[in-house]
Amino acid sequence: MLIAKLDTVLVDAKNAQRGGSYVCPACGQRVVLHKGTRVQPYFAHRPAAPCTYPGEGETAQHVQGKRQLAAFFADWGTVTLERILPTIQQRADCWIAHQPQAIALEFQCSPISRDDVAQRTQGYRKVGAYPFWLLGKRYAQQQLGWGLIDRFAGWLKGWGLCLLFWDVDRQRLRVDHHICQAVTGDYQCQQTWVTSLAMLVRGPQRRQWWPDPNLARFRWELDRDLRRSSTVLQPLQTAVYLTGHHLAGFPESLVTTQVTPPLFGRGVLLWRIVVAAWLFEHVRFSLATARRLGEEAFRLVGGTTTAIRFQGPQLVNRALADLLADLVAGHFLQRIPNGWRVLAQPQWAADYTAWLENDEKKLG
Ligand SMILES: [Zn+2]
Repeated sequence: MLIAKLDTVLVDAKNAQRGGSYVCPACGQRVVLHKGTRVQPYFAHRPAAPCTYPGEGETAQHVQGKRQLAAFFADWGTVTLERILPTIQQRADCWIAHQPQAIALEFQCSPISRDDVAQRTQGYRKVGAYPFWLLGKRYAQQQLGWGLIDRFAGWLKGWGLCLLFWDVDRQRLRVDHHICQAVTGDYQCQQTWVTSLAMLVRGPQRRQWWPDPNLARFRWELDRDLRRSSTVLQPLQTAVYLTGHHLAGFPESLVTTQVTPPLFGRGVLLWRIVVAAWLFEHVRFSLATARRLGEEAFRLVGGTTTAIRFQGPQLVNRALADLLADLVAGHFLQRIPNGWRVLAQPQWAADYTAWLENDEKKLG
């Protein structure tokens, strides 16, 4: 920590003298000044008496990063290092007195559980501050996945859904923005390095671009994962098997190139496959039926509507509207007064049907 109390005065470690009786401004316990040649000065609790406020142990990265971030965000308002918030028992790494809403900045370098992120985020909201998570090196090295997105991703004007990483060595911000999911379920983002607050406010200057989904690979992976008895895919396979189909033999007509918010579990294409398999069991169906099946399939593909910092409440209804519109446009469905009527069955791949029959013989 960078700020300690000497008598009644807050002292920054860089101005502190050895030998003073410094105490932690949060818990009131004695802290020790560490002054070395390689690490910037900081205070630390004695190991026998750790802080009662949650926070991370000081590393060179964390100590240095907090100061850099305080400087980086200075134009947004007065920055207080390690602001203590007694009502929620939290200490914000940096507190920015931004108008109209204060910003509580957390520079997260060490591992942290989902529950702790949720609790701290909620705490900041409770005191009316915008929780702003910046991630350190260990997170920057991770592959973009649900674990990161669920805990730390949030909306930022101009950047869509994003993750922010602070690079202490280069003193700049990496923004992984417009985070979304390809139809195949892969998480994807655009990446921009930001060197000033003005750049962050301006937003990305390039247009977003997404590669076309690799459907051959997707089929191959589905097939492979099913042979390995993937616990995620088995319930999905069972669902379409009962309609006489195989997941990997899904009709081309169900493919879309649209991306989704990153809440779709194994991806919107698998969801479409299951929903379509179920819908085409009917001669006609209502919107209520389609919604029920849509929700059920969403659960099966591991979808969720809430992460810690963002939500997608209308996700399934929107995906359903798109799917139904595509099926009407493809002349598979016809809109009728109380729902839809099936006109034609989408074509499932034949070789997988043959494979399915072999499986049935084995089972028989
Ligand atoms: Zn303390």
